[in-house]
Formats: sequence, C-alpha cells, structure tokens
Amino acid sequence: MYTDRDFGFTEEQMLLRDSVRDFVRNEVPEDYVRHCDQNKIPPLDTYDKMADLGWLGVAIPEEYGGSGLGFVELGIIQEELSYGFLELAVLFYRATVHGAHSLLTYGSEEQRRKYLPLIVEGKFKSSMSLTEPNAGSDASAVQTRAVADGDHFIINGAKVFNSQIDLADRTVLVTRTDTEVPNHKGISLFFVDPKTPGVTIERLETLCFRSVGTNRVTYEDVRVHRDDLLGDLNGGWKHLMTNLNKERFSLAAQVTGASQAALDCALNYAKERVQFGQPIGKFQAIQHKLADMQVAVHTSRLLTYDLARRLDAGLACRKEASIAKVYTTEAYSRVADEGMQILGGYSLTPDFPMERHFRDARLMRIGGGSNEVMRNSIAKDLGL
Ligand SMILES: Cc1cc2nc3c(=O)[nH]c(=O)nc-3n(C[C@H](O)[C@H](O)[C@H](O)COP(=O)(O)OP(=O)(O)OC[C@H]3O[C@@H](n4cnc5c(N)ncnc54)[C@H](O)[C@@H]3O)c2cc1C
Repeated sequence: MYTDRDFGFTEEQMLLRDSVRDFVRNEVPEDYVRHCDQNKIPPLDTYDKMADLGWLGVAIPEEYGGSGLGFVELGIIQEELSYGFLELAVLFYRATVHGAHSLLTYGSEEQRRKYLPLIVEGKFKSSMSLTEPNAGSDASAVQTRAVADGDHFIINGAKVFNSQIDLADRTVLVTRTDTEVPNHKGISLFFVDPKTPGVTIERLETLCFRSVGTNRVTYEDVRVHRDDLLGDLNGGWKHLMTNLNKERFSLAAQVTGASQAALDCALNYAKERVQFGQPIGKFQAIQHKLADMQVAVHTSRLLTYDLARRLDAGLACRKEASIAKVYTTEAYSRVADEGMQILGGYSLTPDFPMERHFRDARLMRIGGGSNEVMRNSIAKDLGL
C-alpha cells in the first residue's frame, strides 16, 4: 500500500479513508470479489453493511438523514471501495450520485423527503435509464415516448445497457415528451418503479461488470403517475447536464482506486517472481513500467481531488471534469495493460485480479460519456 495519498485531507477525511480502507480489507477480500464476478452475484451483503456505517448518506444534507459532507468524502469512499471492488463502488455511486444527487438537484421537496432517508438507510436503490439502441453518445436523440393521459403518462420504448435496473427500486427514465421541438428541448425525466406492469428486463452478456450487470429494457404502455415526473416537464436535458460533472468525477475516483490496486498487484508480483535468478522487479524494463504506472496513478489522484474541491466550492468545472474522465480512465487502461505484461501468462488466469482490471478498464473509456465525446467537449472549451 502507498503512503502518499493524504492529498491535503483533513483529520476527519483521513479517518474516513482509514475506516473505508479497513472495511475493504476485512469485508471485500479478493476471493469474494472473484466469486461475485464469476457467478454474476451483486455484492448486496457488503452494500448493506456500508449502509449500516452511514456512508450512503455522506453527501446528503443532514435534514434528510445524511452527514452533509461533500465531494472529497464521496471521492475518498469511491476510491477506497474501488481498490477492493470497482463494481461495489459503482453500486455506491448509483445510489449517492445518480439517485441522491438527481433528487437534490431537480427533485421536488416531497420526492426528497420520501426517498433520501431511504437511500441513506440502504433501503432504496436506483439506476439510470438513458442509453437507447439508437441514442448512445447522441443521448438527446432518445425516442422512448411519454404521452400525457390525465394524471398519468403512458410510456413506450426501449433502453439498452441499463445497469442494475433489476436491483433498483426506481430508475431515472429519460423520455421524449415533445416531438415538435429541437431534441434537447423535448425531454422529461421520470422516477419509475421497474416492477410497474409493462416493463421487461433482459440481462445482457458483457465482457466486464458481470457482478452487478447491465440490461436491455422495454416499456410497453407503462403507466407512470405525474407525481413521478422528476424536475420540469421538457426540462430533462437541462437537469441531466447539471449532474454530468458529478458523474465524471465519480468515475475518476473509482478508476483511481482500481488503478492503485492494479499497480500494487503488479508491484508485489515483481518483487516475488524470480526469473534468471532474481526478482523480475530488478530488471530495469519492469521497473520503468512500474514507475510509469505510479506516475499515472498519482496524476489520476491529483486530478480527482482537484475536481472534488472545485465541486465542493461550487466552481464551474466542465473542462476539468472531462479532463479527469479522459486521463484517469486511460491511465487505468495503461496500468492494467502493463500489469498484464508484468504478470506474464498468469495475468490471464483468474488467480490474479489483473484480468478483471484489464476488462473493467475497457468499459471506463466508453461508458459515462465516451472519451471521444469528452475530447469534443474539451476542444469546445478551447474555442474550437
Ligand atoms: C457495461 C455497460 C454499462 C452501462 N450502463 C449504463 C447505464 O446504467 N445507463 C445508461 O444510460 N447507459 C449505460 N451504458 C451505456 C454507455 O453510456 C454507452 O455505451 C455510451 O454512452 C456510448 O454509447 P454507444 O455504446 O451507443 O456508442 P456510440 O455512441 O454508438 O459510439 C460508438 C463510437 O463512436 C464514437 N462517437 C460517437 N459520436 C461521436 C462524436 N460526435 N465524435 C467522435 N466520436 C464519436 C464513440 O466515442 C464510440 O467510440 C452502459 C454501457 C455498458 C457497456
């Protein structure tokens, strides 16, 4: 384990970090993670233990039962959880960022009072239903239709890659409510119970993220009450944009923890594996790989907590969020790839976590806004 990750944390933040680190050491051992990954079992027992420790409410205001802390604390928890199991951190993030921050930024007071205390207690899980077969990067092209019918809306359409909707109590469903205006002006969000009649969920086979999983979902004449509209009618795009920086920050924190885990695994292996009469870590070729991996992890952490502090200070940070997402996810890919090389043939077996990092890293450059789309956004901020 490294010793240089205090990064200007307060005493309280370091205590929190140490608690999460101890929790991961005790509750998230590698054989548990491998079991969840190989058998497609979500780590719900561990999630419940986290709820008992109060971490799900870390960034939820005290009036709704949370601790009222901020993004540095959210980053610390996600980084440390991800060190043990990236998908556990993702489960945490879907509750605390997708769920809680959606409610906090554009939910009604009634919705906040109803759901936020349940999120804090771990009794309420949520998911995000944005991507469709014909609307991936071009997310404002969503075609799932919601048509008003008295006090209800009737929803028809299809979503794809909807992670953990099968575990969720509600999903943030992105729909089209006006077809006569430019794409982004006719979008509305609903907080939909996936058990509502007319919702069909089919699990997808994927290379990675097999524990929590992702799904194809169809909506056939699904009736949703007007009270479950999240934010303004036709204001959904504007609402989604307000949370993008928080999502990118979360991905950066997650992959920073996972990159550190991959580096530590490779470092330990390089110290122990003997070839030509000496540990392979004595070969300069291997040392330079590990040095480059350390540069990548250190820089990822700097970008992540710089972004956290900007979010906590309420500063504009679209460019910094895109930079952090691009850099940290590509750093994770490089670290996992070099980690595979250092472990040699054993990297390809499930006896080591490196092959899981290698698979998980591949998704992180695509999901949460692909890195090409991030670069488009950075270029726009450069005035291009
Ligand atoms: C395991 C997994 C879990 C996921 N979970 C969720 C979830 O819970 N909820 C959800 O809503 N979505 C989820 N997604 C979807 C994910 O966010 C999308 O895959 C992602 O947004 C990209 O969309 P796409 O796959 O349709 O690719 P496309 O948009 O078709 O892109 C294909 C390629 O073209 C490039 N490209 C597209 N447009 C441009 C452009 N303008 N400039 C340059 N390059 C461009 C892309 O970068 C990419 O390389 C998940 C995906 C996976 C694989």
